[in-house]
Amino acid sequence: MRDHRRVRIVIVGSVAAGTSAATKARRNSETAEIVIYDRGAHISYSACGIPYFIGGEVDDVAELEPRDPAWFASRHNIGIRIRHEVTSVDPAARTVRVTDIDTGRARTEGWDALVLATGASPIRPDVPGIEAAGVFTVRTMEDACAIRDCIDTCAVTRAVLVGAGYIGLEMADQLAARGIATTLVERAGQVMGSLDEDMAHRVGQVLSDHGVGLRLESTISAIVGDPVEAVVLDTGERLDTDLVIIAVGVRPNTALAHSAGVALGTSGAIAVDERMATNVPGIWAVGDVAETRSSITGKALWHPQGSTANRMGRIAGDAITGGDLIDHGILGTGIFRVFDTTVAQTGLTERAATEHGYDTVVLHTMKADRPAYLDGRQILIKSIADRGTGRVLGAQIIGDRGVDKRIDVLATAISLGARASDLVGLDLAYAPPFAPAKDPVHYTGMALVNALRDPEPPITPAQLDALLLTGAPVQVVDVRSAVQFEASHVAGAIHIPLGQLRSRAHELDASLPTVTYCTRGVAGNTAQHILRGLGFPRVRALSGGSTNYLVHQALNTSDTGLASTEDPGKGHTWASSA
Ligand code: FAD
Repeated sequence: MRDHRRVRIVIVGSVAAGTSAATKARRNSETAEIVIYDRGAHISYSACGIPYFIGGEVDDVAELEPRDPAWFASRHNIGIRIRHEVTSVDPAARTVRVTDIDTGRARTEGWDALVLATGASPIRPDVPGIEAAGVFTVRTMEDACAIRDCIDTCAVTRAVLVGAGYIGLEMADQLAARGIATTLVERAGQVMGSLDEDMAHRVGQVLSDHGVGLRLESTISAIVGDPVEAVVLDTGERLDTDLVIIAVGVRPNTALAHSAGVALGTSGAIAVDERMATNVPGIWAVGDVAETRSSITGKALWHPQGSTANRMGRIAGDAITGGDLIDHGILGTGIFRVFDTTVAQTGLTERAATEHGYDTVVLHTMKADRPAYLDGRQILIKSIADRGTGRVLGAQIIGDRGVDKRIDVLATAISLGARASDLVGLDLAYAPPFAPAKDPVHYTGMALVNALRDPEPPITPAQLDALLLTGAPVQVVDVRSAVQFEASHVAGAIHIPLGQLRSRAHELDASLPTVTYCTRGVAGNTAQHILRGLGFPRVRALSGGSTNYLVHQALNTSDTGLASTEDPGKGHTWASSA
């Protein structure tokens, strides 16, 4: 207990950030008076669990809200006043104006420290019919109950989801679990705009494989019927539907901040320092309403996520009560499940790293999460490192198991400033039921180290295409099986299975630049080393193998960017003998 003064802490917002600030302040100070106001009726609930309540994985909505104001009062001596809206702030007088929504009575309350934890609200596109029955956003407990009630009582068989961020994707998964045929409409050319395009393409493929209709580069221009009967897209297409869920993003609730003269940052959310203090003395801001900064670039970063909101709240609660916690910034780590696939990311994407001026090394590595004899499943890791320092900048992972563990190891390593070589040396737990002896994280580190040091680093699909387009002499060697080669291959590729490469290397021209590839990258890498050992001076392996190459091809040749990865696509450099 560091703070013995009887300060009055007023917090606006009682979900993730507000309650974290309050409980941390209480742990530091038994004497502070702590009051939270929320205009809603629910507190400290898990919005993150809402899709799983709608899908039926969570039976009772009450499970998402395990604590009530009485619990906070008795356990922490924190007063939570629900259905009380704070309508204005007077920073000079250090007061707020609060209205009791049920009685309509307003009063003025004083504060020594004011925490704005007012969160964010869903964006509702301004299109005709948006207010129709059967059109919902997903944010609050009321939304959760209304959507589930609609599905349970209105014989919903078709749904349109607008917005392919992680909430839209989680909802697509959960609506499918309820047997609802779903179409996902997204303005951008890819799902999950926070991922690199090639990784997002793979996620889009998962959706397509599970029967979710995708309309990329499309948006809704009207909603027909009340209750809803259809949506009309800007492309003119009409999608008949019983339910529309809008998940096109959120906006920070900054009205109160505005009334108090609190400055916003470049993202439009409240700007705070490393202690969560705003520009107005005595006023703090935390959670979705505030921006923090990237721990890699140091630039402002708005990451409206529960994980971040909790940490920000804790720091503010500590700072107000005399603690010394500071914010070290965030990586923007996130994870979600879509059908049987887990998708996660941390740090910079290739796109962001390039925009920030890094000279990047980018790799796609595919390794199993366990030994094959215990049902090992492939995990794809796209890793990005800085060529100059060797520092790991970011990772994106897709797989059906073990993704959570690898992303958290990588997030931890990146937070601590790890270089690629540091990944190789991590003493990670190994036993066959949990991981292979050489974990996918180790493997990523090794591959990055090689790529960083190697004068002939792995060649990306885009670089290979560009090289082939120049018409420069290059020999491409496919080391997969004859069956795989015959099904399809890079046009002009020479086929020599890996097992025959040493004995048949004389069939190749050692003076030519050479590119080796297999299906996922491992055998192609081995082939590269064999040829080098045999005196070929310029050999590069195709990063991520033919699987990665096909994704690149599909992205560059298909209108939707969503051709099957099994589909050779229409690219000029991929030949199919089928
Ligand atoms: P909010 O949760 O928005 O709470 C703000 C509160 O302030 C609200 O209750 C509001 O009523 C109140 N308020 C606002 N203005 C006033 C006022 N003037 N007076 C009184 N009260 C006011 N995050 C993750 O990290 N992982 C996930 O898996 C994840 N999944 C999600 C799934 C869904 C469907 C949703 C909707 C969100 C998900 N999130 C997830 C995000 C996470 O829920 C939010 O980041 C988190 O709730 C933010 O907490 P907050 O306290 O900052 O704001």
